[in-house]
Amino acid sequence: MKFADLGLSDELLKSVLDAGYDTPTPIQAQAIPSVLMMRDLIGIAQTGTGKTAGFVLPMIDILAHGRRRALMPRSLILEPTRELAAQVAENFEKYGKNHDLKMALLIGGVQMGDQVKALQEGVDVLIATPGRLMDLFERGKILLTGCDLLVIDEADRMLDMGFIPDIETICSKLPAQRQTLLFSATMPPPIKKLADKFLSNPKYIEVARPASNNTSIVQHKVRTTSRGKRDVLRHLLRTDNVTSALIFANRKTTVRELAKSLQQSGFSAGEIHGDMDQSSRNVELQKFKDGVISILVASDVAARGLDVKGVSHVFNFDTPWHPDDYVHRIGRTGRGGATGRAFTLVTDEDAEAIDNVEKLTGGKIPEMVVDLGGAGSAPAEAREERPARRGRGKAPVADKVVEDKPVREKPVRAARTRPVREEAPVAEAPMVEERVEAAPVPEQAPRAERAPRRNEPGPRYQPHDEPQGKPGEWNGPVPGFLNVSAL
Ligand code: AMP
Repeated sequence: MKFADLGLSDELLKSVLDAGYDTPTPIQAQAIPSVLMMRDLIGIAQTGTGKTAGFVLPMIDILAHGRRRALMPRSLILEPTRELAAQVAENFEKYGKNHDLKMALLIGGVQMGDQVKALQEGVDVLIATPGRLMDLFERGKILLTGCDLLVIDEADRMLDMGFIPDIETICSKLPAQRQTLLFSATMPPPIKKLADKFLSNPKYIEVARPASNNTSIVQHKVRTTSRGKRDVLRHLLRTDNVTSALIFANRKTTVRELAKSLQQSGFSAGEIHGDMDQSSRNVELQKFKDGVISILVASDVAARGLDVKGVSHVFNFDTPWHPDDYVHRIGRTGRGGATGRAFTLVTDEDAEAIDNVEKLTGGKIPEMVVDLGGAGSAPAEAREERPARRGRGKAPVADKVVEDKPVREKPVRAARTRPVREEAPVAEAPMVEERVEAAPVPEQAPRAERAPRRNEPGPRYQPHDEPQGKPGEWNGPVPGFLNVSAL
């Protein structure tokens, strides 16, 4: 099955091909023809299945016909978080580039004025979190009577976040004659009730979860403290035969600081996060793909959709707040038949987050004890280790470490790595005696100026740097289309 078999327009097929896809995922293959036939739909699918394009693509073709009207969006997509709303908006921008559609993103934490202005000019697609939408609705800034296509995405997460009453209210403001698409990873009774009440004769599609228990990925959690994290990470990077690693952190500042600190420790590391413009991200990504750098520190949003072959390790420097992100993150290794290793650093504060991850993946992640002899209390350099050599295949990243600081006189205490269960014991890494020379740490890619987007509104929204990314809060890039844009 190809995208060309699904009944999409030629302009749309072109942008899909430009995005690099020619084969639809199972949810796309099943959903797209039904949505184009204007049917209601229940899609049991979670992120990672390609469900976003499953509704975005047919919506673009449906909305290609018809006219915008002030204050009356023609379609509405409800998302539980700002991050997901922005990702859907990115999809619209990517796939809708050959169409004249306008979109507005209504999310909390952003000035309301520009959003209201966008609505006044008329939009084809409104992507919103329920809270901000209700707020604007109650202020009389928006009319939902012209909205005859509704998408309720991640319905079960909406339920967890207490949004169902808002969604019921929103549904009741929309025309009764409309098309409704509901996506949810699970179907708990309140979501079933919602679907029964607001969908009419829906087509039901269920697709398998993406492989979260992928046997080609060996997973471990490592208990540590906030102060001990960097030591544990450096230790694992040096001793676990890492050839190329993606390291995820929850905050953009952590990504920046960690990349810098790894560089200072001699690792060939780069960074990719939402504060970087797309061209800088691409440069950094290319360096990682080309092996110029062997470690890429990333935020979730920046790394979404990232497909790099041969990533030997994924490290969750922070336990992800959303369990889905765990699946996305670790899925970056163990690709194409290769075996990958994924480590998640867990502090006491992460108890709930790791619990949620284990609930989603359906089992306890085996714990590995990394005993650094009091790590977290002493400065990292005091326990500077020599890189380990194992010399199979691609050179381990530790072999490339440039030891830019003299090794301390303090006796180096060998770290012990002890798996607690399931895994075969990991041999203690032999300490090499000789100094390993390596290529110099590559310079950071110059940050290219971001070219203004077409019809970009001004003044531009200034992203907040801190705090970022508390659960449910915006932690992603600030798209140029934040307010409204011609696609
Ligand atoms: P989603 O489930 O919508 O969050 O999508 C998960 C990832 O799959 C995203 O990074 C998409 O870019 C990617 N994707 C979407 N459609 C396809 C496709 N047809 N083939 C391969 N990857 C896809």
